Amino acid sequence: MTASKSARERRAAAQAGPLAKVRIDLGPQQEFVYKVTCTVCTGKGDRPWSTYRPGGDNGFLAAMDRWVLHLHEKHRDAEAPCLEFLPAAQQRLHDRRGQQQAGRDGQG
Ligand SMILES: [Zn+2]
Repeated sequence: MTASKSARERRAAAQAGPLAKVRIDLGPQQEFVYKVTCTVCTGKGDRPWSTYRPGGDNGFLAAMDRWVLHLHEKHRDAEAPCLEFLPAAQQRLHDRRGQQQAGRDGQG
């Protein structure tokens, strides 16, 4: 369990590239919680920009999507293996927005 957690952490960190700091915490149900922190940007209150997503592989994908989009928005010159997932991340973001839009339309 511990070995697989740190192995996942290393794999995620390698994909996220040099600007990211990746940590995997354990949630209340011993599930993986992926946390990606930007080593450059600060968000509100001088805290580093970060994204935090619980849940195994889905959490990994969701956190990595957020990180890839952040890299694309804020660090155009950065290089990271995960940028290869940018089109897929943008597509998923687009799909989610489409669903939210559809939901609002349906209610009105
Ligand atoms: Zn950043």
